[in-house]
Amino acid sequence: MYHQIGMWDQKWVIGNWKMNGRLQNNNALMHRFRILPTAERVLIGLAAPTVYLLQLHNAMQIVLNNRILTCAQDVSRFPNNGAYTGEVSAEMLADTGTDIVLIGHSERSLYFGEKNEIQRRKMENVLNVGLIPLLCVGESLEEREAGKEHEVIAHQLSVLQGLDTKNIAVAYEPVWAIGTGKVATVEQIADMHAFIYKEILSLCGSDVKIRVLYGGSVKADNAADIFAVPYVDGALVGGASLSYDSFTAIISAAQNA
Ligand code: PEP
Repeated sequence: MYHQIGMWDQKWVIGNWKMNGRLQNNNALMHRFRILPTAERVLIGLAAPTVYLLQLHNAMQIVLNNRILTCAQDVSRFPNNGAYTGEVSAEMLADTGTDIVLIGHSERSLYFGEKNEIQRRKMENVLNVGLIPLLCVGESLEEREAGKEHEVIAHQLSVLQGLDTKNIAVAYEPVWAIGTGKVATVEQIADMHAFIYKEILSLCGSDVKIRVLYGGSVKADNAADIFAVPYVDGALVGGASLSYDSFTAIISAAQNA
C-alpha cells in the first residue's frame, strides 16, 4: 500500500539528476527500482531533465512496492502557452505527469541569473496547476564566512510570503556543499533547519505543513547522521542519485531514521 503515512509526514528523498541521463541508461536504472523494498516512511522522487520526464513517469508505473514521484528540475516563469521559444510551462509539466518541481536551484541562479522575482513567478505557476514546488535556498561560502547566512536565507525564503498554499517544501542547500564532497556539519544543519522552520511559520502562518530537506553531498555513508538532525525532513540528492545502490541506501537510511 502506498503512502500509509501522509506525504507531509514522510521523509522526502529526491534525486536530482541535473543534466545527466540517456534513454537507455534511464530505463536500466528504472528497471532496478521495480523491486526496491517498500519504504512507506519515505517519499521518493526523481528529478530528470525535462526531455526524459515522460519516460520516467511511464517507467514509474511499473514499480512494484513504492510510488516514485516524477520531479522536474525547473519550469518556465511564463504560464500556459505562448511565444517563449525553448520554455516548458507548468501546465506542460502537469500534462506529462510531473508531481514536484524544483524552483531556484543554486545552479539556476549561478548560471542563469535567477533571483527571487523569477522564482516567485515560477512558484505561482506551479501552484496554479496543482503541482508541488520545492524551493531551494542556500548561502555561498563567502556569505557564510561573512556571517550573513541567516540574512541570505531569510531573503531567499521571502518568496514564500503570501503564496496561496498551506504546504511548504524547501531544500536547504549550502552552495559550498553542492557537488563538492563538503557536507555541512550536524550543528550547521541543525541551526539552519530550525531557522528555516521558524521563518516559514512566520511568513506563511502556524497552520502550514512543512518539509525542509537538506542537500549538499548527501551520500550513503552520511545520510543516517543527517536524517537524525532535528528538522531535517529528507534530502535532495545530486551525484549520489545517479547510482542505484547509493540512492537506495539513502532511501533506506530515511526509512530507518
Ligand atoms: C543538488 O544538486 O541539489 C545536490 C545537492 O548535489 P550533490 O548531492 O551532488 O551535492
